[in-house]
Amino acid sequence: MKVCIIGAGTMGSGIAHAFAQAGDQYEVFSTDITKELADKGIGKVAAGMAKRVAKGKMAQEEMDAILGRIKTGVKEDFIADADLVIEASTENPEIKRALFKEMDEMAKEGAILASNTSTLSITQLNQVCKRPIIGMHFFNPAPVMKLVEVTAGLNTPDSMVDEVMAISKDLGKNPVKVNEAPGFIVNRMLIPMINEAVFTLAEGVASAEDIDSAMKDGAGHPMGPLHLADLIGLDVCLFVMEILYNEFADSKYRPCPLLTKMVRGGKLGCKTGEGFFKY
Ligand code: NAD
Repeated sequence: MKVCIIGAGTMGSGIAHAFAQAGDQYEVFSTDITKELADKGIGKVAAGMAKRVAKGKMAQEEMDAILGRIKTGVKEDFIADADLVIEASTENPEIKRALFKEMDEMAKEGAILASNTSTLSITQLNQVCKRPIIGMHFFNPAPVMKLVEVTAGLNTPDSMVDEVMAISKDLGKNPVKVNEAPGFIVNRMLIPMINEAVFTLAEGVASAEDIDSAMKDGAGHPMGPLHLADLIGLDVCLFVMEILYNEFADSKYRPCPLLTKMVRGGKLGCKTGEGFFKY
């Protein structure tokens, strides 16, 4: 199966890796705005694997085989030949809608078009396409995390859901079927929990350290919600809360004002060196 991935950032390059490591049944095309950007993304995948080889955790032959299954370029080089096209570009509705229009025009008849979007409506993205599309939501890091949310928009046929579930299982994933709703499953529960942790902090119920410690020791979470927020990026957490709040028009999803203030102040978490904790 030929798989073309649009966008070679964190997720796109990880998804390319996930397919390439599954075996010879996949030929992977990693694309971005320029071939250089795609090369940069796959370069990071290669550097990560080289570290594992150096530590004796992976054989050089395996690394070579995985990289040998990935070609890089721009979508125009590969898309017409692909059986599955996965869009993993920037989370911006205008960019994604423009891409899906082009993907629909350029991909062959019968090719599946999928989006890795975390928050956008599959049914809405489908408005610009003549064929039905589907959500294929991987989690970061894509080669490792087991979940794929296979999301059916209003017009996605069951046969396409079955096919994408089967492909996800072939990658070694544990896919779940989702009937499209804002935040799908994981983000709908995870991000409001983080938002509640921020309210708990803002109300002075406990310190950031103690909130995280309580959720680790009392709820068995591997990582506290405020540290997790720093890792995800406070801007991303706020963006998801705003989507949930606007889509459901329900005050239970209102973003905590402290979260908004942190984002406005440029304290976005690990990526800026400071969020609820310092890095
Ligand atoms: P990123 O910023 O790391 O990568 C986005 C890539 O898309 C960039 O390399 C950019 O050059 C490219 N791009 C932008 N416009 C393009 C275009 N017109 N054509 C081709 N390439 C284009 O972002 P990311 O974190 O990899 O996120 C990508 C998608 O995956 C988003 O929809 C995001 O919501 C989703 N997602 C992200 C995560 C995560 O943890 N980062 C997890 C699950 C899903």
